[in-house]
Amino acid sequence: MQYKICDCTVIDVENGCALLPHTDVYIRGGKIEKIVPSGENAQADKDEHGRADGYKTVNGAGKFAVPGLVNLHVHLFGTGRPSKALGGGKAQQRLLAFIHTALGRRILAAMVENSARNELLSGVTTLRAVGDLFGSDIALKRKTDAGKGAAAGLRMFVSGMAITAPGGHGAGTFARTAETPEEFEKLVEKNVTEGADFIKICITGGVMDAKKRGEPGEVKMTQAQVSAVCSRAHALGKKVAAHVQSKAGAELAAIGGVDTIEHGAPLTEESVRLLRERKGAQVVTCSPALPCARLPHEVTKLGEAASYNSEVVMQGMIDGAAQAAAAGIAVGIGTDASCPFCTQYNMWREVLWFEKCMNISAAEALYTATLGNARILGVGDETGSIREGKSADILLLEGNPIADLTALRDIDCMFAQGRFISHPKPKRLPAIEAQLDRLTEEL
Ligand SMILES: [Zn+2]
Repeated sequence: MQYKICDCTVIDVENGCALLPHTDVYIRGGKIEKIVPSGENAQADKDEHGRADGYKTVNGAGKFAVPGLVNLHVHLFGTGRPSKALGGGKAQQRLLAFIHTALGRRILAAMVENSARNELLSGVTTLRAVGDLFGSDIALKRKTDAGKGAAAGLRMFVSGMAITAPGGHGAGTFARTAETPEEFEKLVEKNVTEGADFIKICITGGVMDAKKRGEPGEVKMTQAQVSAVCSRAHALGKKVAAHVQSKAGAELAAIGGVDTIEHGAPLTEESVRLLRERKGAQVVTCSPALPCARLPHEVTKLGEAASYNSEVVMQGMIDGAAQAAAAGIAVGIGTDASCPFCTQYNMWREVLWFEKCMNISAAEALYTATLGNARILGVGDETGSIREGKSADILLLEGNPIADLTALRDIDCMFAQGRFISHPKPKRLPAIEAQLDRLTEEL
């Protein structure tokens, strides 16, 4: 199907988010065929009856066209509803045992697909899944890439199971463990054979599974283990994304050759130098940190240590990102969907929170969520901006997001690799939205 978006205002993220009013965007074969001032090609496009020539018209008058969002940090197995099962213990063991059954796996596959569908309907046209259970992300990617299922149109990059040391973040749930460097190399090979696009490791502890203050920053992998993973992955042509929540962890990652530091922490001079040298990036996730730090324990269902740890992680992440940006290191963003209060439809909110927390302009935040993130993924030539020849990943909005990023919340219509979706409506969780709206107001 060919489409023509008539008379919209294109936001050019390649050019400081400049507005191009009264623009027609032609879409053919999943790509942006041409971008012209409105009416310029009106004659050429009409057949002898005066009808637009084979293009289905989408009225863009008064609307703003932005590139589809790129969410760099997603887990697809959860909804974002706070749950005791995320904190470990018996509830988690029971859930994991169930997921191992045939019925459990079918339910997991359906959940993962629903999550991806929700991401898509919230304007995310490209996502990177950084640790899911039992290859469910890899299976969904295969289906989606074939143009099948509920998430067709979504561009996915998947890690499969994450890798860590015993006792590391995600161990026993979304991460497999190894001990010797050789065992780590074997896990890298296993993941690549299974279809992983990149390797996810967890170098430090995490907020969800930390039992005491300061634990998210505790280094759980050795330098030799991190280096073994990176060199094997790079030899196989795969990048490495590392969960890191402390300065020591970040340095280990930088020395080991990690490509993206997920979440992040303050950086040493050495870390900055190494990351810049290898053109690495930091991927900020405000979405899990803010609610866990700021919402009451009765609401988050997390202990006191978790809110303390979240506040520390939040500040470290912001400080590290500011250091990275100042040194010319790319900074990306993602939602960490599946964590408590991190739903599968709130990438728009991550963009807004990133703007507020980093004290940058809406234009910079929008660039980060689109072309900036696409470049970190290595697909900046394919998506991330509205340019002729690129994939037709476009959101049409009622309001101007540069004036207020909240305009990204409700999408009038969208294209994902040229597939048209009219009035996309993700399934939202009202109780969570109420809490997040309150937090947003306080920023
Ligand atoms: Zn994560």
